[in-house]
Amino acid sequence: MFDNTTDRRVLVSVSGLKMYFPIFGGILSRHVGDVKAVDDVSFDIYEGETLGVVGESGCGKSTCGRAVLRLYDLTAGTVMVDGTDISTMGQGALRKIRPVMQMVFQDPQACLNPRMSLADIIGEPLVEHTRLSKAERRDRVYDLMDAVGLNRDFANRYPHEFSGGQRQRIGIARALALNPKFIVCDEPIAALDVSIQAQVVNLLEDLQKEFGLTYLFISHDLSMVRHIADRVAVMYLGKIVELAPREGLYRDPKHPYTQALLSAVPEPDPVTHDTANRTVLKGDVPSPSNPPTGCNFCTRCPRVMEICRQQDPEFREVEPGRFVACHLFNESETAG
Ligand code: SF4
Repeated sequence: MFDNTTDRRVLVSVSGLKMYFPIFGGILSRHVGDVKAVDDVSFDIYEGETLGVVGESGCGKSTCGRAVLRLYDLTAGTVMVDGTDISTMGQGALRKIRPVMQMVFQDPQACLNPRMSLADIIGEPLVEHTRLSKAERRDRVYDLMDAVGLNRDFANRYPHEFSGGQRQRIGIARALALNPKFIVCDEPIAALDVSIQAQVVNLLEDLQKEFGLTYLFISHDLSMVRHIADRVAVMYLGKIVELAPREGLYRDPKHPYTQALLSAVPEPDPVTHDTANRTVLKGDVPSPSNPPTGCNFCTRCPRVMEICRQQDPEFREVEPGRFVACHLFNESETAG
């Protein structure tokens, strides 16, 4: 699928995605509400690009990443991956398309079986999805270990013998085993020492170039997203409030929430860090089970207007390639 405005191929297209988790209460355990973890989210990811998704803890970014990979049954919306609609696919059909789309998790320790050797962990997807012989599998595992910078001599060791950074390399090698096109990286460096975070990010960038990968990179770390992402989506309370090319977003954030988030990022040089323009948000993030009426940021927005408490702002393109959900950018409402 090509985007006529950019002439680039869209690999992943998400439209109207909702992921609600039911809340049951009372003696009869009735359905009394929903946690609206992801609430009507739309975006495209171009082939070969990295789309960063940023937001505070609990904003729905990880749920969004998992929903895009159909690790959940969607509440509503459409997800197209490489031209195939996977939104309502059954498990059998999903299993066939899984090789195309993979995930790298935050905590590699939690998803590496402690009783399996490194070679078995990396080779497991090959056993499940290919008919490679044992020798061919071993060669493929060695190639993958080379690709992620793991010494081949480690093949028979177990996860507990590795550092956090090495375990993340194992997770990445496993994700690459079936030659995926699209990888969701869910806070892949958050659990690592600061000293090795850059190594893992550089590895992800190198692998992207080598294998032509497309990433959805989820992180609460705005500096890291600035480093790796081509475009950035900002999430707040289950919705994308702004989506823009990286440079434009960091230079000229448009949504009041993006402005507040970026103003809180410390500058390396305290002399140039403009604390006077820092926006400190008051109050807590509302519960996703009971979001405010109108704009979901209206309870904390420093620029809130009357209309914000009544109408949910449309997520619309305000400049070529720049999307914002805010009444400040709806000319017909703010004119006059
Ligand atoms: Fe603030 Fe209103 Fe814009 Fe929401 S719509 S971000 S409350 S100005």
